[in-house]
Amino acid sequence: MPPDAHPAPPGDTVRSGNPTPGDAVPLGGPTPGAAPPLGGAAPADAARSAGLASADAPPSAVSASGGAVPLGGAASGDAAPSAGSAPGTDAPLAGAAPGGAEAAADRVPTPGATTGPAAPAAPVVITGLETRVRRYPLHRAWDGGVDVNTLVITRVTTSDGRTGTGFAWTPRVGAGAVRALLDDDCPAALVGRTPDPAPRWADLTAHLADAGAGGLAAMAVAAVDIALWDLAARRAGAPLVDHIGRRRDRVAAYGSGVNLDYPLEDLLGQVRGWLDAGHRAVKIKVGSADLDRDVRRVAAVRRLAGPGTALMLDANQRWDLPAARRALAALERFDPYWIEEPLPAADLDAYVRLRRATGVPFAVGENLRTVGAFRAAIDAGVCDIAQPNAVRVGGITPFLRIADLAAEASVPVAPHLLPELSAQLALCVPRAAMVEDIDRASFAALGALEHPSGVALHAGWAAAATPPGHGLTFA
Ligand SMILES: [Mg+2]
Repeated sequence: MPPDAHPAPPGDTVRSGNPTPGDAVPLGGPTPGAAPPLGGAAPADAARSAGLASADAPPSAVSASGGAVPLGGAASGDAAPSAGSAPGTDAPLAGAAPGGAEAAADRVPTPGATTGPAAPAAPVVITGLETRVRRYPLHRAWDGGVDVNTLVITRVTTSDGRTGTGFAWTPRVGAGAVRALLDDDCPAALVGRTPDPAPRWADLTAHLADAGAGGLAAMAVAAVDIALWDLAARRAGAPLVDHIGRRRDRVAAYGSGVNLDYPLEDLLGQVRGWLDAGHRAVKIKVGSADLDRDVRRVAAVRRLAGPGTALMLDANQRWDLPAARRALAALERFDPYWIEEPLPAADLDAYVRLRRATGVPFAVGENLRTVGAFRAAIDAGVCDIAQPNAVRVGGITPFLRIADLAAEASVPVAPHLLPELSAQLALCVPRAAMVEDIDRASFAALGALEHPSGVALHAGWAAAATPPGHGLTFA
């Protein structure tokens, strides 16, 4: 694929019944010069292909310079210290194995290990979990209120001296609570056990069950799960994408912004920037108190973008059922590629009723927190595009389950935010739609990364050529 070849606009596709999954490119590459196939699920058994990074992948995104602010207003640029640790250090937290790796390893029975030269080696086990919180100012506040993104960064260590990095993410609330769960409650379910992601995910989810399903507990589990996947891939010497199973070398990305409060001129400037950068799909917010304002803005963006650009609309749960019916009746003529969260996420019955009033596909999922919630939405027939957030659903392990059950229902996955991680997962799932290239709020753009990750968002595409693991090293 020559570097100037664009993804075929998703909006060009016939949109009857289930929406067409976007522009995922099956491994093996499209015909040079041709638009990538639309609607094509990746081959069922795409090759696992360590080292098959796209030859035409653009250079890695380079992180912007710093500006991260420690939570709690500490003056130092270091992470806020964990409880009981010295200020400005990343000291191990409560739950790190007393006595170190050997002591932890001793807790695992090793039958027959006491005699003879053929005694099996002690299994590698988790020995500790460290947590720190970092806040990253946004370049422009989201809807006038959210001015930072916060990461709760975890590092899991094992008895063989390896580490894996994970994180939870939140734009507004919960970082301190997630950190407390990680510091106070998670180590008991982890230390001394093998670092396999799936069983540890199950253990930890059960261990935190009293804190409730989903929500903050799932965010804490996600931080650990992402770290264990990173660790497993690094142990295998493979990029995360290849460790999970690469199905394609790149996936379409769309320009996205939190822009409902933008004056129209600013909104058009933002969209123009995405188009100039090569995006053929863009998403704007709707849900103004005055529907006429939404209509004027969507009309203006459609005029600017032209008919060949996919235009997605995101209401962020702002409407009730009558308002959604009125709004979609007024906005359908602008050919929205999807309407995202037109109603409160949990109100599946309202979605079913809205379905009878519009043919616009529904994109839902950023506020669904469990595999079961996705199953319910898909089974109800109101999830045309699934948008799991890898942190909010509890990590990579449940994210991949959601992607599998979505694929069984011919529903493509368009992961929510977190572009550097979402892009990697979108390269692996059976049906990928698009990756959300959020305006100036990728980890790189926020200055969160110590090194370029190897994930590139460029000219309407996302690709990944990371070092072993997920490649995310947080500053
Ligand atoms: Mg949204």
